[in-house]
Amino acid sequence: MLTTGFDLLQEAVAHLEGGFSSLPEFAPLLDGAAIRPILLETAERMRDNYPYPHPLYVGQMLKPPHPIARLAYALAQLINPNNHALDGGRASSAMEKEAVAHIASMYGWDQALGHLTSGGTFANLEGLWIAGRLAPGKAVVASEQAHYTHERISAVLQLPFHKVATDDAARMSLPALEKLLQTGEIGTVVATLGTSAVGAVDPLPEILELCARYGARCHVDTAYGGYFRLASQLSERNARIFEAISRADSLAIDPHKHGLQPYGCGCILFRDASVGRFYKHDSPYTYFSSDELHLGEISLECSRAGASAVALWATHRLLPLVPGGAFAQGLDSGLLAARELGQRLAGDARWKVLFEPDLDILIWAPVEASATQVSARSQAIFDEAARRGLHLALTGLPREILEARWPELEWDAPRVTCLRACLMKPEHRDWLGPIWERLQSALGEVTRG
Ligand SMILES: *Cc1c(COP(=O)(O)O)cnc(C)c1O
Repeated sequence: MLTTGFDLLQEAVAHLEGGFSSLPEFAPLLDGAAIRPILLETAERMRDNYPYPHPLYVGQMLKPPHPIARLAYALAQLINPNNHALDGGRASSAMEKEAVAHIASMYGWDQALGHLTSGGTFANLEGLWIAGRLAPGKAVVASEQAHYTHERISAVLQLPFHKVATDDAARMSLPALEKLLQTGEIGTVVATLGTSAVGAVDPLPEILELCARYGARCHVDTAYGGYFRLASQLSERNARIFEAISRADSLAIDPHKHGLQPYGCGCILFRDASVGRFYKHDSPYTYFSSDELHLGEISLECSRAGASAVALWATHRLLPLVPGGAFAQGLDSGLLAARELGQRLAGDARWKVLFEPDLDILIWAPVEASATQVSARSQAIFDEAARRGLHLALTGLPREILEARWPELEWDAPRVTCLRACLMKPEHRDWLGPIWERLQSALGEVTRG
């Protein structure tokens, strides 16, 4: 399960090494006898993990990197380039610019400014930092279901922050947004395309219209969902929304979520490259030897893993970001898996599917009389499923979102814990049988007990 493709590394390592063969022989000291037991001890420690790479893991947003990404990362690691500046990562900086251009091309942004970041949090931070520079003192708003990072980032940037209410599909409410915009104090609206809890997609075209009417900027947090722009199995509504990303001002997308990359790979893109003026600075000690644009000049982070850019670049070479390609088919497979699991659950009266999935995240719960009972049983099913090797997740949802969808439920608590599956892996659709079997068996066990 873990070593797919590692045999391919040897030849590439030899080829890379050949590039430095004119130098006098040098090999760092390696005390194999001392390293071996520690490596085994490390492996022992790492056994204490859920089996994230396996298709029976459907819990959190954890998609294993593609073998090409792991191999390219390992290869680049032998050089350990730093994409802060060309001096520290010549090849990997060029590869970063190409890989970022590939991502921007999904949205038709061929003049965009962007770069990789350590993750979605930093990508969003840069998006909101620029937004704040353009509208000093004005507020940032994001939906109640948006990632909590936006509130924290706004605090770091000392920008006022307000939450916009959500509707019963966990999407940003347009009347609530308009009411906030009418105050004239809002500088930036964050639209989330793929919320962390339920994978909900905010109504971006209408949000963009409101932003235009009230003179606000629109940043799209599509850390989770961005790649679905390439999918062909989105609903008509959602296809229209992902099209509209092209008209936003900036976006955050995480190659380490749906882009098959190891952690440490986010991306920020600005449609208008002229915002680069806010980053500009002079640091002669870093830049004295090169006259091209340095990624460090357009990034808030300084040292960054060049290996991340190399892994992403190699992945794009194997799986280009085009509609209909193998990468897009993997995303479609997740959309269909969520829909099909939803249909199976809907066909059994003991389950209640709570949202028609916008993306590849499904939320459902066992049918019980009260919120407290649903929460307890969800937890018990979660535990029983794990005993059968099926790893789900739990998520708490507030009465305001679920009440209209579950009118017969007795609300003896303000929130209810539901079951959640992220069907992110391209293989998940083929594994629906084994997933379903374990789910039903866990429910049977819990009901009997
Ligand atoms: C994951 C995620 C983030 C945070 O990104 P990290 O890569 O975890 O730093 C922000 N917003 C959304 C919608 C996300 O899914």
